[in-house]
Amino acid sequence: MDVDGLPVTVTRKPIKNMYLRVRSADGDVEISAPARMSERQIVDFVRSRREWIALQRSRLSGLAGGGSGGAQNAPVWTDELARRAEASIRAALPGLLAKWEPIIGRAPSHISLRVMTSRWGSCTPKTGRIRLNLQLGLMDPKFLESVLVHEMTHLWNTRGHGPEFQRRMDMYQPDWRRLKRELDRQPVMRRP
Ligand SMILES: [Zn+2]
Repeated sequence: MDVDGLPVTVTRKPIKNMYLRVRSADGDVEISAPARMSERQIVDFVRSRREWIALQRSRLSGLAGGGSGGAQNAPVWTDELARRAEASIRAALPGLLAKWEPIIGRAPSHISLRVMTSRWGSCTPKTGRIRLNLQLGLMDPKFLESVLVHEMTHLWNTRGHGPEFQRRMDMYQPDWRRLKRELDRQPVMRRP
């Protein structure tokens, strides 16, 4: 099977949970799945672990410098990872914008993607431009959505992250604080 361009081999087994294994930088992702698990559930499972798969493959490619995680050993950007991240974000944006523009009542004039090491996104309310960290394309999709909502909320020209910003975020995405805490714990990939 193929999930967003990722080759996946599924083996059905008499087990209760799904397991995922990445053995090489460019080989198939191997899934062990319970006999009755639907194809849809397997696809969702692989998508929810995109970041882990990308990081694992990057490490196996030998470009990440080995190691077992932690900031110093965070994976390094490669052209392939950048391509994958950009394609993933560009594919997700139309649906996310269609969902959130009517809710937030503001639309960005332009969205650019770039590798950033100290923030997940930024916004210039005056020009309507939003920049997103390319790494979001390799992570759980909920993070891209949360950062996009955050930056779109800045289009209201709220002062920083003050009460007005928080009131709007509470309204649009009630669990934004939890998502932000979780996001800020994620390892940040290093520039080559
Ligand atoms: Zn902000």
